[in-house]
Amino acid sequence: MYIKALVLDNFKSFGRKTKIPFYEDFTVITGPNGSGKSNIIDAVLFALGLARTRGIRAEKLTDLIYNPGHEDGDASAGPREATVEVILDNADETLTRSQVVNAAGSDDVGDVDEIRIRRRVKETEDNYYSYYYLNDRSVNLSDIQDLLAQAGVTPEGYNVVMQGDVTEIINMTPHDRRKIIDEIAGVAEFDAKKEDAFEE
Ligand code: ATP
Ligand code: MG
Repeated sequence: MYIKALVLDNFKSFGRKTKIPFYEDFTVITGPNGSGKSNIIDAVLFALGLARTRGIRAEKLTDLIYNPGHEDGDASAGPREATVEVILDNADETLTRSQVVNAAGSDDVGDVDEIRIRRRVKETEDNYYSYYYLNDRSVNLSDIQDLLAQAGVTPEGYNVVMQGDVTEIINMTPHDRRKIIDEIAGVAEFDAKKEDAFEE
């Protein structure tokens, strides 16, 4: 399974609906500082429910909505709604049809060769709302997280390495670095189970 495309609509600096295709193996996004490269990563984390707002560099969810006056610190006019859709190529059946049906709570998920996870944030005068969809079926964050966990994608995982993470890993103590390696290698899980067993 891999991300086939990303569709951003009114998200952060993407004021127009923008579809970004990805290659199966390796895709590089280049551009000048401030051109929106990191915003693309933020979009993936946002849509897949993998990060809290700080992880996607926003004080609050509604800061993620495109604001033409962002640079000048102006409040935004116009539509206060942002949508991001992550289109996953699941042709290799990393996730089975029944796993997708289960997460969507419906048989009506279409062809699961393609899994589309969409998140929308909408601001009203005195509140904001966040919605998740799986192949156009309305779902909860936990449905998305449970589904992705079955493909090895979790908020605690290292599926996404953020700007600054590499320097952080270089600068940490050997002991802390070892912990991360244990985590990635899946050893940490067994250490935790071992400890639990000793306690019993
Ligand atoms: P660098 O190379 O420095 O890491 P980058 O390509 O990763 O840069 P981003 O951090 O993705 O750049 O984009 C920053 C830009 O996004 C800034 O110009 C900022 O004003 C803009 N931006 C962030 N949030 C919004 C928003 N809600 N509306 C409009 N523009 C926004
Ligand atoms: Mg950046």
